[in-house]
Amino acid sequence: MHDIFYTFTNKDEGNLAYHVPDKKENVDKNRLELSKKFKFDIKNLISMNQVHGSCVTVVGKDSPRIIDDCDAIITNEKNLTLMVMVADCIPILMFDKFNGVIAAVHAGRNSTFQKISEKTVLKMIEEFSCKPENIEVIMGPSIQKCCYEVDEKLANIVKINFGIEFENNRYLDLQGINKKQLKDLGVRNITINDRCTMCSGVDYFSYRVDKACGRFAGIISILS
Ligand SMILES: [Zn+2]
Repeated sequence: MHDIFYTFTNKDEGNLAYHVPDKKENVDKNRLELSKKFKFDIKNLISMNQVHGSCVTVVGKDSPRIIDDCDAIITNEKNLTLMVMVADCIPILMFDKFNGVIAAVHAGRNSTFQKISEKTVLKMIEEFSCKPENIEVIMGPSIQKCCYEVDEKLANIVKINFGIEFENNRYLDLQGINKKQLKDLGVRNITINDRCTMCSGVDYFSYRVDKACGRFAGIISILS
C-alpha cells in the first residue's frame, strides 16, 4: 500500500500561477514557500499550461516541469509533485494507493463537457492497470451550483447531453457531472468539497469575483 500526500491551498499560500496578472518573482516565491511548507523539492513540481481541453498526459522524472496544452497529468513516480491551479474550476485529485498512481485534473466547464475525469481514469486503467474501485477522487473547493450561472445555450447543452438534474434555472452542477462520469466507470470513492469559491467568503480565489485574481492549487504526490 502506498502513502499518498495531497492538499488544496488557499489564499494563505498566495497566487501559484504564472498566467495571471502577477510578477514572476512573486509566483516563484509562493511556490518555493509551498514546497518548504509541504516538504517537497521545488525542482520536482510539475504543473500544466492548462487550456480547458481534455488532453491527459502521463509524466515522469524526465518530463518538462510545465506540461503544455494539457488539463490532466498522471504519474506513478515517487518524489514528483503534481499541481493543478484553479479559481472557480474544479481541482480534482485522484489516487490509487494499491498501484501507486496519482493524477491532478483541471475540470472547468469545457473540460467537464469533454469528459476529462472519465479520460483520466481510463488512462489510469490503461497505462497502470488501476482498478476503478481502488481509485479515490477528491474534488477541491470550486464554484458550486449556488453560483454557477450560465446562459441559456450552455444550460441547454447540459440538460440535453448530461441530464436535467445537473441544471436548475441556468445554474450548473459541474461537480455532479464529473461525479456521474466517474461513477459510470465504477469509481465509488468520491469526495466533493462543498466550499463554493464564489460565495463562501474570502479564502479562495474566484475568477467570477475578480477577473484579475490569482490561482490556488491542488497538489498531490506519492510519498512511499
Ligand atoms: Zn456559491
